[in-house]
Amino acid sequence: MSNANKPLIGHLVIIGVGLIGGSVSLALQRAGIVGRVTGVGRSRDNLELAQKLGVVDGWSHDVAEAVRDADVVLLAVPMNAYAAVFSAMADSLPASAVVTDAGSTKQSAITAAHACLPNPQRFIAAHPIAGTEQSGAGAAFAELFDRRLTVITPEQDSDAEALALVQQLWEQTGSRVVTMDASEHDEFLASVSHLPHLAAFALVNAVSRQKRDGHDPFCFAAGGFRDFTRIASSSPEMWRDIALSNRDALLSQLDAFQQELNGLREALLADDAERLLNEFTAAREARETWLAKHGEGL
Ligand code: NAD
Repeated sequence: MSNANKPLIGHLVIIGVGLIGGSVSLALQRAGIVGRVTGVGRSRDNLELAQKLGVVDGWSHDVAEAVRDADVVLLAVPMNAYAAVFSAMADSLPASAVVTDAGSTKQSAITAAHACLPNPQRFIAAHPIAGTEQSGAGAAFAELFDRRLTVITPEQDSDAEALALVQQLWEQTGSRVVTMDASEHDEFLASVSHLPHLAAFALVNAVSRQKRDGHDPFCFAAGGFRDFTRIASSSPEMWRDIALSNRDALLSQLDAFQQELNGLREALLADDAERLLNEFTAAREARETWLAKHGEGL
């Protein structure tokens, strides 16, 4: 094969062939920039399904073996698996390989890479801000990242060639790439993603634990409850890991939210109609401004 026909990524190894890892593979295959894709995971059924669906060309349970001739490795596993996966690949990863990830928190990913990889400068952390509440290879689809945002969080000493390749990879999934500091990313995502998931889990529990005397409050739930709680159907294992890996930023956001709830409680207790109206109006205006500015890609 001449260089002109050589794909940008000869051998892509995806560790964790679920919704995100599988969708990256399908999007890069659609873009025609990947030669061969190997999937690595724990569940044989999921990996066989991934191969049957054309998400991967082959698969393995063995991280070290799979990355031995990798050009690019993508981690798309829950956050608490990072240290084990990085350690498993450390001795066999080629020096030329580039590593990226799709995890929802970035400082913990970078810390794990520094602790476990021989050349962490070639790890460029990334987070595609796109998803559904489904999991597994069967849920993957090539269009998941189209017109969405992917945040990459390189460090001062990141390898320039690795950074350029990772940027291209994420652009080729169909997403728009922005670069920011990992700590800034984690703070923003704590407010607009991690806090809403905790709020949705808590709301569903608060309602379901009130079942009594044969009355099920869910019988009376309609569209509003369904919209607010959709994300409570997300993977509990994944969200446990995200919460713990972004603990400090999430604790600050929970405090801010609790303060808002306390304000509403005080207003109710005092029959303060004006305060309630002001709070609801401020929220509605903020939401409408957000949708007018950014609603197109949502
Ligand atoms: P998923 O459950 O669909 O896929 C994860 C896959 O990783 C599963 O197939 C699982 O078996 C496998 N896995 C778990 N531990 C492993 C290990 N130690 N070694 C190898 N494979 C392992 O989850 P997903 O939604 O694809 O999420 C993957 C990552 O992407 C997570 O870090 C998550 O935070 C992040 N992310 C998720 C979303 C979303 O909305 N789902 C969005 C952006 C980023």
